[in-house]
Amino acid sequence: MAKVVISHRLHDDGMAVLEKAGVEVVITNSGDPKVMLPELKDADGVIIRIGSIDRETMEQCPKLKVIGRPGVGVDDVDVEAATELGIPVVIAPGANSRSVAEHAMAMMFACAKDMIRSDKEMRNGNFGIRSSYKAYELGGKTLGLLGYGHIGSIFAGMAAGIGMKVLVYDPFIKREAVEAQGYGYREDMHDILKESDVVSIHTPLTPQTRNMIGEAELQMMKKDGILINCARGGIVDEAALNKALDENRIHSAGTDVVVHEPIDPADPIFHHDNIVVTPHMAGQTREAASGVATLAAEGTVAVINGQKWDKVCNPKAYDHKRWNK
Ligand code: NAD
Repeated sequence: MAKVVISHRLHDDGMAVLEKAGVEVVITNSGDPKVMLPELKDADGVIIRIGSIDRETMEQCPKLKVIGRPGVGVDDVDVEAATELGIPVVIAPGANSRSVAEHAMAMMFACAKDMIRSDKEMRNGNFGIRSSYKAYELGGKTLGLLGYGHIGSIFAGMAAGIGMKVLVYDPFIKREAVEAQGYGYREDMHDILKESDVVSIHTPLTPQTRNMIGEAELQMMKKDGILINCARGGIVDEAALNKALDENRIHSAGTDVVVHEPIDPADPIFHHDNIVVTPHMAGQTREAASGVATLAAEGTVAVINGQKWDKVCNPKAYDHKRWNK
């Protein structure tokens, strides 16, 4: 019987796929590779909900055939090592895109309508906060998207639907594809920062995007600009964001992700009442949780059964000799 190790229990729909496939499932309740290792040593597959896996761990697991991620972020998986070892990394593209795009939209509204501060003030008896005129309308304003993949493109459609102009910066997407949707294409990210009322990040975390938004970039934003990050902590330099909020250099911000998760309640980010912070939950709607768990489980089982599953982030893994005997 094949054995699959899971860092944390999946949504019931994903667990049902594994059960139906008749695999042995071990849940470690930790995504720390050191904690998972004793179980991983004789495992055929691993699904990491929260946690990481490095080369050293993979090399100690001779039976390991597949790594599953119920999502698309693979920054915590050593994909290069997996590819060299012939281990496909199964992802769940698109399954939580709508969920994240709606979350970014909700954050954009919360910021533009000054909802966090107003709610807090109201609870303290300050009804007069209604006349602070911090809230503004989004219709006719410009949304600048950094990253135009699954999530960015859905958010673009939603924003256009409420009458926003949409600009896109994504060097890996063709200008024509963006312009065909009626959106503006910018080759230089700085133009997005300068022209947009709302800037929303939808790129992966890579060496190129780490600290992509720092002090200089925040300086380029409009004084009434809103910054949304539902992508990954580490793309925005948090110290620079805190400084920009302290100095009222932007209107407000929304972030679903931070560098160190779970975040310390004493983190300076909470000193501001014009930032909305959520616990990496943009992709955690019921629908998305079911979708990603199902896809990750189906892909994991398929690879264990010798199928070249196509929803992987490293198809080159299939060039390895273990796949071509
Ligand atoms: P995707 O791969 O479909 O799209 C990412 C886009 O970013 C691609 O079009 C790519 O060309 C672009 N890109 C890559 N490097 C870039 C750069 N340096 N500058 C500008 N654009 C760049 O991924 P997606 O499904 O849209 O997800 C985007 C990111 O959102 C994921 O990588 C993940 O980190 C994050 N995410 C977060 C949550 C959450 O719960 N908060 C859930 C799902 C995904």
